[in-house]
Amino acid sequence: MYNITLIPGDGIGPEIAAAVRKCIDATGVKINWDIQDAGLDTFLKEGNPLPERVLASIKKNKVALKGPTTTPVGAGFRSINVKLRQELSLFANFRPIKSYPGVRSKYANIDLIVVRENIEDLYAGIEFQEGSTEAKELIRFLETKGFSIRPDSALGVKPISIYRSAMIARFALDYARKNNRKKVTAVHKANIMKYTDGLFLATARKVATEYPEIEFEDRIVDNMCMQLVQRPELYDVLVLPNLYGDIISDLCSGLTGGLGTAPGANFGEGLAVFEAIHGSAPKYKGLNKVNPSALILSGVLMLKYIGEEEAAARLERAVSETIKEGKYVTYDLKPDRDDPTAVGTREMAEEIIRKIIK
Ligand code: NAD
Repeated sequence: MYNITLIPGDGIGPEIAAAVRKCIDATGVKINWDIQDAGLDTFLKEGNPLPERVLASIKKNKVALKGPTTTPVGAGFRSINVKLRQELSLFANFRPIKSYPGVRSKYANIDLIVVRENIEDLYAGIEFQEGSTEAKELIRFLETKGFSIRPDSALGVKPISIYRSAMIARFALDYARKNNRKKVTAVHKANIMKYTDGLFLATARKVATEYPEIEFEDRIVDNMCMQLVQRPELYDVLVLPNLYGDIISDLCSGLTGGLGTAPGANFGEGLAVFEAIHGSAPKYKGLNKVNPSALILSGVLMLKYIGEEEAAARLERAVSETIKEGKYVTYDLKPDRDDPTAVGTREMAEEIIRKIIK
């Protein structure tokens, strides 16, 4: 029996989490789910979107499956994902991007791994509001260094350390080594951000010398976007700082037909939180409409992580066959998004369960 924290999240989170839980339970792996609410609804109820009890549960159980949570745009509370990753030192975000036959896409046979640093960078959210004492002091200090900054500016800080850059590079290269991957590409903008991205690149390059059997190269992030759209087959494992990793993950999931089938995992030292790339899609909340596959495939990664390889393979096969048959699938997997034969989240999960237990 495994103790695993389940965070349903908000928006579409609770409905997909319920479907995913049933699919994982159908594999026969015995899990005692410790259900912990977090996110927007929890903020409205408890005044805190990520109460201490949630962190305590993950620290105790060491493994969590998380539905998406909403982060208000521009104002309001800070992202609970960012806080979770920082509080639990979940330093690596791992996103396998894979084509599933049956998913509508201009591309076939995509098989990319996106490894994203998860704690530092502009994404750490170190910001100062325009007109605040801190912003004014920082602007004064920067002026003494010769930078001219408008007084009505908000400021953000981009920390990139040797420590975390080495850690994420090692994670990507270790993954490549253990999984017979041939190449790791570090993505950056070191031509412009010479100190921060420059440090990321120099550190990754140095770590790569310890992995002579793996080809190591780098790409500037804007060029990387263009290359991924034009020739994704040239790439294998990508390693990126936090913000570029966030953006490139969505781009890559677009190559395989969208967010509906793109899973993810956050790894720390002896801790892991599994979650889909997609967000809480509030417009679909409660409609039993969205695709549960991305979170189910995150569950596949989770089963592999806890050593339940056979159950993981069975669950992935059931998802893959359901998608390939294209009969009991959600709207996003139909050739025409308005196809009236598209089924709901629950019905797609029920078909996956039928295939698991057949
Ligand atoms: P989103 O990923 O929630 O949705 C964008 C669009 O993608 C949706 O409108 C829908 O068309 C499609 N989509 C997403 N998930 C789908 C699914 N399972 N099946 C079918 N289609 C799906 O992105 P957004 O609208 O930019 O963000 C909404 C909220 O989610 C924001 O508050 C954002 O901060 C949050 N978010 C949370 C996480 C997370 O919790 N890990 C990740 C990304 C975004």
